[in-house]
Amino acid sequence: MRLLLVEDDRMIGEALRAALRPEGFAVDWVRDLAAARAALGTERFDLVLLDLGLPVGGPGGPGSASDPSADGLTLLGELRQRSDTTPVIVLTARDGPGDRVRGLDTGADDYLVKPFEFDELTARIRAVLRRHGGRAQPVLRHGAIVLDPATRQVQVAGEPVLLSAREFAVLEALMQRPGALLSRAQLEDKLYGWGEEIESNAVSVYVHQLRRKLGAERIGTVRGVGYFLTPVDAA
Ligand code: CA
Repeated sequence: MRLLLVEDDRMIGEALRAALRPEGFAVDWVRDLAAARAALGTERFDLVLLDLGLPVGGPGGPGSASDPSADGLTLLGELRQRSDTTPVIVLTARDGPGDRVRGLDTGADDYLVKPFEFDELTARIRAVLRRHGGRAQPVLRHGAIVLDPATRQVQVAGEPVLLSAREFAVLEALMQRPGALLSRAQLEDKLYGWGEEIESNAVSVYVHQLRRKLGAERIGTVRGVGYFLTPVDAA
């Protein structure tokens, strides 16, 4: 899962990034509107965590852009205007009912008022991703494989299987699109944020480990193209 965190408060940003990474999220963090626009214009994210009170940024620094009143809602409006459906959770200290209504009506998928409990944030992230993927069930199933994003547990035919955070992230990405072919680059995107060093054959190493733990026949390869979950024992 790849998240874009748009937050100008250094302490909150660092705390969120540090807390989200062990949960298996690749987190890219930007601190102003210009950087967020650039990121959303060039990369794909599974979800955006969006603060509202943000510096405009860009050349010349805060306040130099033509509209100094622009904020996170401006960015959200732009995103929806161009029919970008990337899920967005607004994280803000603005907690008036009018603020929440404006946030949701501008196109936010959820709205969380600071300060919040980290567990509530991760639960809301899972819920938003579930709805975005058109699923009502919190647990992912593919044949005999069951993956629970909340407890981060995986079972095969009822037997628990222990996975590392990154093995889990690869399997989760494959299970969200069962049967679809995911390229190595697409899987790397789910695993690594900016500035994190990617070992050249990391994805094939994780797939190798997954095959060893889940059964070799469960993950198919199209050489040079990518990986997919096979329909082995699929219900
Ligand atoms: Ca802020």
